[in-house]
Amino acid sequence: MKRLTTPNHNYSDLIDLCIEGIADTQAIKPRITANKQNLLLDASVYDTKINQGEIYTYTPLIRFHDAMCIKSTKDDYEKLYTQYFVPKAKKTRVIYDAILTSAKGECPFCGGLGDPSNLDHFLPKAEFPQFSIYPLNLVPSCRDCNMGAKKVGYAKSAEEQTIHPYLDKAIFFEEQWITAHYIADSSLDEPGEFRYYVNTPSHWSAVDKQRAEKYFKDFNIANRYAKQVTSSLKSKLRSIKRELDRGVSIQEIIDDVIQPDIDGAPFVNYWEVGMSDGLIAYLNSI
Ligand SMILES: [Zn+2]
Repeated sequence: MKRLTTPNHNYSDLIDLCIEGIADTQAIKPRITANKQNLLLDASVYDTKINQGEIYTYTPLIRFHDAMCIKSTKDDYEKLYTQYFVPKAKKTRVIYDAILTSAKGECPFCGGLGDPSNLDHFLPKAEFPQFSIYPLNLVPSCRDCNMGAKKVGYAKSAEEQTIHPYLDKAIFFEEQWITAHYIADSSLDEPGEFRYYVNTPSHWSAVDKQRAEKYFKDFNIANRYAKQVTSSLKSKLRSIKRELDRGVSIQEIIDDVIQPDIDGAPFVNYWEVGMSDGLIAYLNSI
C-alpha cells in the first residue's frame, strides 16, 4: 500500500462545475443544486472518519430516510458521476484526469505493480452515492485491484476497513509490516521461492493488525509480490554468487548488493524490500 498525495480540488467548485454542465432542461439540475449543501456536509466528516479509522460507522446514505427519496437521490448522485463528471466532453474531466495521473502510473493498492486505469470509489457509489464525485473518495486503481479486492464491498466493522491511500494513519505507510522468507534452491544458480507475509509492529492495536492482514489477503499481495520478484531474482543471485566466489564477506555483499535496493525503494512495504529481507536472512544463514 502506497501513500498518495491528497487531491486538493475544491469540492464546492467541483459540484458547481458539474451543475454547470447539466442542461437547464434537465430536471436533475435543480435537484442537485438543492442538494449541494448535503453533499458538502457529508464530505465534511469523511476525512476525519477515515483518518480515525471510523468510516465503517458511516451508514450508507444516512442523511435520507424516506425510501423513495433515497432511490431518486441515489440515481441523481450516480448520474452526477457517470454523466456530468466523467465524460470527456465535460469541463470536469480535467479533474478526473488530474486525480488519475497523480498516481504517476503506480496503483497505490498493489504498491505500483499495476498502472491505474481508472478511478475507484473507495466507498462504493452503489452504497455511498453521496461521495460519487468527492475527490478524496476517488482513488486511482489498476484493473487487478479494482476488479479483485475492491469488489468485496465496504467495511461494516473497524477491522474490515481497507487502508485509505490518501487519508489513513501514517503507520500503514511509514512502518514496515510486509516482509518475506526466502526458501533457497540447493544452489545459487537456480532461484528459490519467496513467501511474503505480514509482520506488524508489536505496538500496533489489534484492529490495525487485522486491517493490515485483511488488506494483504484481499489484494492477494503474497502471490503478486512473489511473482514480481522472479523478474529480478536471477540477476540478483548471479551478483551474490560472483561476490561469494571472489571471497567477499557476507556483510559486504549485503551492504553492496542488497542494501541499495532497500535504500532505493519507493516506500517501506515495497516488494523489493521484502525480497531484500529474505535474501539478507538467507545470506546470514549460509
Ligand atoms: Zn493495483
